Amino acid sequence: MEQRKGRRLVLFPLPLQGHINPMLDLANILHSRGFSITIIHTTFNSPEPSNYPRFAFRFISENLPEHHRTCCKTDLVAFLSMLNTKCGPPFRDCLADLLSDASEEPIACLISDAILYFTQDVASDLKLPRLVLRTGAASSFCVFAAFPLLREKGYLPIQDSRLEEPVVELPPLRVKDLPSIHTSDPEDLYKVVNSMVSQSKASSGMIWNTFQELEPTALETLHQQLGVPLFPIGPFHKRFAATSSPSGPLTHDETCIPWLDKQVPQSVVYVGFGSLATISETQFLEIAWGLANSDQPFLWVVRPGLVHGSDWLEPLPTGFLEALGGRGHIVKWAPQQQVLAHPSVGAFWTHNGWNSTLESICEGVPMICMPCFTDQRVNARFVSEVWGIGLQLEKDIERGEIERTIKRLMVEKEGENIRERMLRLKEKSDLCLSRDGSSRQSSDNLVRHILSLES
Ligand code: UDP
Repeated sequence: MEQRKGRRLVLFPLPLQGHINPMLDLANILHSRGFSITIIHTTFNSPEPSNYPRFAFRFISENLPEHHRTCCKTDLVAFLSMLNTKCGPPFRDCLADLLSDASEEPIACLISDAILYFTQDVASDLKLPRLVLRTGAASSFCVFAAFPLLREKGYLPIQDSRLEEPVVELPPLRVKDLPSIHTSDPEDLYKVVNSMVSQSKASSGMIWNTFQELEPTALETLHQQLGVPLFPIGPFHKRFAATSSPSGPLTHDETCIPWLDKQVPQSVVYVGFGSLATISETQFLEIAWGLANSDQPFLWVVRPGLVHGSDWLEPLPTGFLEALGGRGHIVKWAPQQQVLAHPSVGAFWTHNGWNSTLESICEGVPMICMPCFTDQRVNARFVSEVWGIGLQLEKDIERGEIERTIKRLMVEKEGENIRERMLRLKEKSDLCLSRDGSSRQSSDNLVRHILSLES
């Protein structure tokens, strides 16, 4: 722990699991570098402050009508757009109040999620520098930054007849890899994405949960396009794995670990699709039969609400798990980082949310990619095509393809090569956090940058 800096940082996460966790990890990193931390959070999806005794919390009411609170799952774009509109006044009041509090250390800057773009104008008005945290990959941000070009060239909106075409301006992406999000108003999506990019450009710098060796090209491109300092200081979670607690509404099912302890090393397929993705009942059953037919042991996270129209496991045939004789284990929510670090886990069938992708890389676990929406498709393409550390399920979710893909990865030579590349990348993720590693150096630069902002 470094000497206290006598400066406070105000952090404001987007209130979705995959964004809250990295912001809290970042808070831990910056606290360990001597800064005091205040987290402003919406009352929606708020973490439990008693799990984070080193941080001060302020809660703002985001004033979302009830149907918009639930629409983060049904119309994510409308939810994000609404948050940016409704949070403005309460956030401004809260920040102004913190700035006028003479009993606390002076505030050096605001750090807010890139998607909370409205905070740039609030911070500017209050003469407070803003740094941006982008919780996704640099590579997918390049795609978001290219949205105007992609529209001009006719790639967006995506047309079914062009799905397999390459996007020549953004190799190796195909049209079907471009971020797509179901929304009632596509113009809303362009507005959210363009505002996120333009207000990041207007910021005093961007912090990334990635590392230089993983995404050198994308980071260089963004450096040139955005013209603000970039700080790739990830992977965040590996710096505080021992101390961070789950922040979400679901508790970890700890039965995973004793079950994994009983399995053969590198034999288990861990299956989890994050906190937001949903699937149909037909897809759910294809996944279940694909896993059953693969002959590999599997640990499967079926989040309540994952399957449209079901509370939990109702669509599974009676006796499905029992018939497998203990080869399958299903939980509602897993201690994912611990699971991926377990020696029994040999593959991660993932939706390629960026946190999941990075967590898999850090533990050297090859992936089966089944992206659902937003940046997940870009991440999946990088996993399978650029880094060569996973296989992508390309067609509709179908039991035969699932079984073949699991076998390709778990028992065939192709899988061995993928595992080998994954281990080399895992070593790079370890090295970047070592004493002279790139992320450590970037963190030092970030601390210096924050201290220079006020002068
Ligand atoms: N996660 C978890 N337990 C689970 C599933 C997910 O702790 O059973 C965590 C996972 O470790 C990751 C986050 O939830 O940190 C999911 O973030 P990601 O970006 O992968 O996906 P999102 O939920 O945003 O779609």
